Amino acid sequence: MRLLVVEDDKDLNRQLVSALEQAGYAIDRAFDGEEALYLGLNEPYDAVVLDVGLPLKDGISVLEEWRKSGRTMPVLILTARDRWSDKVQGFDAGADDYVSKPFHMEEVLARLRALVRRAAGHATSQLTCGPVGLDTKAGRVVVDGAPIKLTSHEYRLLAYLMHHSGRVVSRTELVEHLYDQDFDRDSNTIEVFVGRLRRKLGVDVIQTVRGLGYLLSPPTGPTGA
Ligand code: CA
Repeated sequence: MRLLVVEDDKDLNRQLVSALEQAGYAIDRAFDGEEALYLGLNEPYDAVVLDVGLPLKDGISVLEEWRKSGRTMPVLILTARDRWSDKVQGFDAGADDYVSKPFHMEEVLARLRALVRRAAGHATSQLTCGPVGLDTKAGRVVVDGAPIKLTSHEYRLLAYLMHHSGRVVSRTELVEHLYDQDFDRDSNTIEVFVGRLRRKLGVDVIQTVRGLGYLLSPPTGPTGA
């Protein structure tokens, strides 16, 4: 999952980015409204954390322009404490949720998890596909109840596929949603990660759909007869 963090306070921006990276997200960051507007219009984010008070263009205007242009990614706004009008304007502009400053990082993380999974059509933080279970809250993966150790890249890949199970996800889509802007993106690395993930899971849930991408679906039983 790839997120955009928009916050002009450098310390707060850094804290958000580091907490979110630790939670397994790929992160792009912006420090003013113009930069945020551009990135949100041009990059496919799974969710955005958007401060309301920003230089060059305020967060509410940025959000309005995204929505006017048909950008539907979930947006969590950061509002100043006691500014109820920020919240009302934010929701009217198309925000999905808000957190008031000062906030607890755990609350931001929990709200983002909920936004990301709802956007993908899931109601709980436990995702399953056949024998594979992924706990988005704890960042844990199990196969037939036994925990599996994954690297952060492998986890990110599996989490994206689990959120979008039952449909074909292209390599391009994976590259766009697993890596931040500055990452050296090479879609061949996706194949390498898929190969490693398959070996670690040891069950046949990731199918290659030739020419299209990957499909996560429960194993259909023994094949090769
Ligand atoms: Ca601000």
